[in-house]
Amino acid sequence: MTTTHNLGFPRIGAWRELKFALERYWQGAATAGELEAQAAGLRARHWAAQSALDFAPVGDFSLYDQVLDMSFTLGHVPARAHSHGGSPLDQYFRVARGRAPGDADCGCVHAGEMTKWFDTNYHYIVPEFDAATTFALDTSRLQAQLREAQDLGVRAKPVILGPLTYLWLGKSKDGSERLALLPALLKVYAGLLDWLASEGVEWVQVDEPALATSLDARWRQACQDAYAALQGHGPKLLLATYFGPLGENLPLACGLPVAGLHLDAINAGHEVASAIALLAPQQILSLGVVDGRNIWKTDLHATLAWLEPVQRQLQERLWIAPSCSLLHVPVDLELETDLAPEIRSWLAFAVQKLEELRLLASALDHGRVKVQEALLANAAAVDRRRASKRVHQPEVARAVAAITPEMGQRSSPHAQRLTEQAAVLNLPSYPTTTIGSFPQTLDIRQARQRHKRGELDAAGYRAAMQAEIRRCVREQEALGLDVLVHGEAERNDMVEYFGEQLEGYAFSANGWVQSYGSRCVKPPILYGDVRRPRPMTVEWIRYAQSLTDKPMKGMLTGPVTMLNWSFVRDDQPRAATCRQLALAIRDEVQDLERAGVRIIQIDEAALREGLPLRRERWDEYLGWAVESFRIAANGVHDATQIHTHMCYSEFNDIIEAIAAMDADVITIETSRSGLELLDAFDGFRYPNGIGPGVYDIHSPNTPSREQILALMRKAAARIPPAQLWVNPDCGLKTRRWEEVLPALENMVAAARTLREAA
Ligand code: GLN
Ligand code: ZN
Repeated sequence: MTTTHNLGFPRIGAWRELKFALERYWQGAATAGELEAQAAGLRARHWAAQSALDFAPVGDFSLYDQVLDMSFTLGHVPARAHSHGGSPLDQYFRVARGRAPGDADCGCVHAGEMTKWFDTNYHYIVPEFDAATTFALDTSRLQAQLREAQDLGVRAKPVILGPLTYLWLGKSKDGSERLALLPALLKVYAGLLDWLASEGVEWVQVDEPALATSLDARWRQACQDAYAALQGHGPKLLLATYFGPLGENLPLACGLPVAGLHLDAINAGHEVASAIALLAPQQILSLGVVDGRNIWKTDLHATLAWLEPVQRQLQERLWIAPSCSLLHVPVDLELETDLAPEIRSWLAFAVQKLEELRLLASALDHGRVKVQEALLANAAAVDRRRASKRVHQPEVARAVAAITPEMGQRSSPHAQRLTEQAAVLNLPSYPTTTIGSFPQTLDIRQARQRHKRGELDAAGYRAAMQAEIRRCVREQEALGLDVLVHGEAERNDMVEYFGEQLEGYAFSANGWVQSYGSRCVKPPILYGDVRRPRPMTVEWIRYAQSLTDKPMKGMLTGPVTMLNWSFVRDDQPRAATCRQLALAIRDEVQDLERAGVRIIQIDEAALREGLPLRRERWDEYLGWAVESFRIAANGVHDATQIHTHMCYSEFNDIIEAIAAMDADVITIETSRSGLELLDAFDGFRYPNGIGPGVYDIHSPNTPSREQILALMRKAAARIPPAQLWVNPDCGLKTRRWEEVLPALENMVAAARTLREAA
């Protein structure tokens, strides 16, 4: 019999119950007991949804983050968490968010740093290490969840983060070597495993996704040492890898003294045969055969076609599961009553994915005839999608086929373009601008909601947005900014706004995916060929430009960001989808230019996060990502100035690719890292304009003129001042006008001081 199991279930709840329960608790409107009861209710419901599986995960549920949970289990909690006292729950939230419900006025506890979980859009709390770090086992959380599961008769497979990945995900705060902590860490892991065995646990899932990244020799050795040290402790270990192939780590993973290995067969299907050959005859192989990162129905026939021979070979040793935790997909498609039925019939969310798993196991164990009806229905849906006119538009295919290298090429090199642009734009040195959005006020959101509900007609909505644009232009003129923006009042979200106007995109009503803590995102579903039926932003920008003599910057989201923040098609390479997006944005760029817009910004906020986990794949990704940007941006005349914006500070390693985008100006996030980012420019002379963000918009604090000056002077020491722009480090939509105005005032004053000194 084929064993079925799941690596993790989305914990936020089909209706985001956990989000709302957390927020009530944080606001003091619910007690800890009420929060715990809600959480227990969700766990019970989620186990019920997994009851057809042979093993359900336990311990995958988290009130905030599974990495933070592991830090608590390992007794590895920053001292600042308990220095303010409070319950363990409050200490937990203090690390997660910088404060617990009790310490409303205590701005002194800083939250743990958050960063992206591998190549997903989920953020975890980074473990903080130093030379004095100690560990001490705390089984309380796992024990409580295990008890609940046992009481409910769940066949529990506890999930823990493995020691290698735990260290790998953390950061050393004092420059000491993280790996030096391994022996101490392993003692606690051994204790944890022994305790799980004493609880009667048969299997424990030990997540080691770090094995899907490029590890150097020291980390590979550490992996070997770790599992050698844990041998003989606790229940049977299922070592879980996911998010990609193991590459050179495959022999290492298969040689570890564990009872089983989970391999992501969606992304590492080509490694299955090697894994089988490398594993010892008693080891089990768990294959991730249903995509845990995307929302498409599995092609069950195609999966069975390769899985059946594997099953004949492995027999009892074969387990099947989703490729990774289902944390990364929405809970239940049943709630999507508004989606076009045809599109809906192509999709599977977490609950549906587990049903697919059950069907696969059934077909493997009892033959396809046993589940014939379901298989036929699946095949029909898969076939309909493959042939659908909604998906394939010959016109788009023709346009993509007609792409030429010249389309990504400006007519002249940057220096020459700059001369023409300078003549048109007439900007001072150290020109000032903003990143695009201004505060999304309650008024704006209410107008949008009323418009959505049909209470405000199109003309009324347009008038309301135009009023916002007027206000925004007036404020920017009063501030004395040099390049203005329209403020993005009409945009709900920088991807959704464009997706809604493009063919090929659909939107779920409830397809929420946890981003961090109580925060969720609802990624658009990019299901078909992308086409722009009509201009998307031209009217708004034209209106804004009509209000001022200053240059008005057109504002677009770039193709790579549109791609990386959506659920995308799995029936063609990402690169192909990205090129279609690039053509749609290119049309918009050219329409803006025709409308007289002289500066156009194309945001690529998510370019970096699309980087593959393995270094050897970076060039391929960067190749088509940069090409897509260039196709989108570079169909303009020399006199039109192209800007791009990226909100992150680590791009030392991709600086050449960023230069290859050849935007005339790039604005970047640097204020939080104290311009550390500019290190990237030491060995590399970035040729074009650059605006190192000097106002941290993520903080409510007002930067002073002196602070901004200091940052700009630091920048001017590294980069020729003629290349420098002065701007905040991201859009202002989450800030209030009262915060934005004084900050921008100081920014403009700083730029004036710089000019006078020049
Ligand atoms: N233009 C967008 C804004 O200002 C950019 C947002 C982003 O980079 N995340 O909001
Ligand atoms: Zn940004």
